[in-house]
Amino acid sequence: PRLANQIAAGEVVERPANIIKELVENSLDAGSTRIEIDVEQGGIKLLRIRDDGHGIPKDDLPLALSRHATSKISTLDDLEAVSSLGFRGEALASISSVSRLTMTSATAPEEGEAEQAWQVEVEGREMAASVKPAAHPKGTTLEVRDLFFNTPARRKFLRTEKTEFNHVDEYFKRLALSRYDVAFSLRHNQKVIHSLRPATRGIDKEKRVAALLGPKFIDAALHIDSEAAGLGLTGWVGLPTFSRSQADMQYFFVNGRIVRDRLVAHAIKQAYRDVLYHGRQPAFVLYLTVDPALVDVNVHPTKHEVRFRDGRLVHDYLFRTLHKALADVRP
Ligand code: ADP
Ligand code: MG
Repeated sequence: PRLANQIAAGEVVERPANIIKELVENSLDAGSTRIEIDVEQGGIKLLRIRDDGHGIPKDDLPLALSRHATSKISTLDDLEAVSSLGFRGEALASISSVSRLTMTSATAPEEGEAEQAWQVEVEGREMAASVKPAAHPKGTTLEVRDLFFNTPARRKFLRTEKTEFNHVDEYFKRLALSRYDVAFSLRHNQKVIHSLRPATRGIDKEKRVAALLGPKFIDAALHIDSEAAGLGLTGWVGLPTFSRSQADMQYFFVNGRIVRDRLVAHAIKQAYRDVLYHGRQPAFVLYLTVDPALVDVNVHPTKHEVRFRDGRLVHDYLFRTLHKALADVRP
């Protein structure tokens, strides 16, 4: 099983950024309203994710680290209508097999009981050590140290601290753009990189986007808010005049999940065709909502891909909505 975990780890754990994604998604699944991320040396030395979610009961702590131990799916029907972000029960097992991992958690105390937190530590093994008492408010903290300490071949593929941190920062942006209602913070080597308060009003959402992508984007963006035929599209598209500083400022979410999809990319590019100079890439932060039954997210473990039941409908809707919005501002 140890070898199996290390092989499987390759699927989800390539670099610190992937770990951030998996752990933050777990925190979101646990209903957290505040997620704090601390990173040292690009995440290679330390990744710490602290949340205020529902926590993990003492008896479930060692279980959470074992392979295919997901608390999120119990029947095939669940798999059909999966709404939680994680549902394979692999992430923690994989991460713990290639790092030194500490998980500390506390659930809300039962009536009349005192608050108590518990901790497990694993070091590249698939069996969790014993559960020890600890101090922690309701929620969970995951600490991942010395990534790939036991797999030198994989460690060699890690880039410089700066590059690894850039990837972490990019994943952080995607996560923070996916849940405006959650407070997020990111620190690197003790320095605050982002500190984001929850945003419910439109103006506060724009502030978050500005904080993450730079104020220039929002200043030169068109606000999209459309609904038709059971599909919805909201967000911002950069005006043709917006010259982006970030190489790749393209964020597309389907039912709250970031997605890279050729059909989506094609529809957006087509919509921009008449207004963008040749060769320039459009910048956008867009949110598509679609009936979950009409989209398959279970395509790849990293879940960046989707499969729409009716791709043509989605393509046409995206193209028409954006083309119309952009046509109004055509120079
Ligand atoms: P999955 O997310 O696919 O279920 P993971 O390996 O990521 O698998 O997590 C295993 C289990 O550990 C989850 O199903 C959940 O029950 C628990 N868990 C992990 N992280 C947290 C967290 N931050 N808060 C509460 N429970 C968590
Ligand atoms: Mg998970």
